[in-house]
Amino acid sequence: MPLLKLEDTYLHKGKRKALVAALRKKGIKSERVLHAINTLPRHFFFDSALISHAYEDKAFPIGEGQTISQPYTVAFQTELLDIKEGDKVLEIGTGSGYQASILHLLGAEVYTIEYQKKLFETTQKFLKRLGIDMHLFYGDGSAGLSQHAPYDKILVTAGAPVIPDALIQQLKVGGILVIPVGDRSLQTMVRITKTGPSKVEREEFDGFAFVPLLGKDGWR
Ligand code: SAM
Repeated sequence: MPLLKLEDTYLHKGKRKALVAALRKKGIKSERVLHAINTLPRHFFFDSALISHAYEDKAFPIGEGQTISQPYTVAFQTELLDIKEGDKVLEIGTGSGYQASILHLLGAEVYTIEYQKKLFETTQKFLKRLGIDMHLFYGDGSAGLSQHAPYDKILVTAGAPVIPDALIQQLKVGGILVIPVGDRSLQTMVRITKTGPSKVEREEFDGFAFVPLLGKDGWR
């Protein structure tokens, strides 16, 4: 459960600044992304028992066997998406809502879907309390969210066995999909840019470990 009292102290701000410096050293270049990470209190999204770890560059449990992604991974995926003010973005795997809130801070209109009901309900309540306005859905997002397509950007925050075709179909021409693909323990980050109605460009970046994307077009 997130903290009852949402306090962002000088200590938190100092730790956040140090985290941002560490991310810069690890190769994150987008000043907009670094600014968003410096602005959003990551500890708000933590269970109170783990709060002292919120500014470590690590993934942590958020309940239901799921995790809040490592800050480096959040920064890396967000940088690959190249979010522009007003972009319509679909995130698959809401989890704690932290990544979705970073997208929101960057000016995106965020659609996000979560498969674990309890997590969905907790995060929905929490984001409402934070006053962060986005479109939240409960269900299997492995085949996207066709009723609100097309999207400028699609982000998958769980590891997929293959790239679901439906996600490419739900992208606008010029749109970007970022998705970790691989086996259950290790994935390659893939960025797909849709350059024409049936044309894509593919780039790959190695060495990521996500919880599995479950569901119809994910792991069963
Ligand atoms: N973006 C999250 C955050 O900021 O906390 C981290 C997400 S966690 C690494 C991956 C999330 O994907 C989990 O919450 C998991 O339940 C969710 N997930 C897995 N398969 C899914 C599916 N088919 N549809 C929607 N969400 C899914």
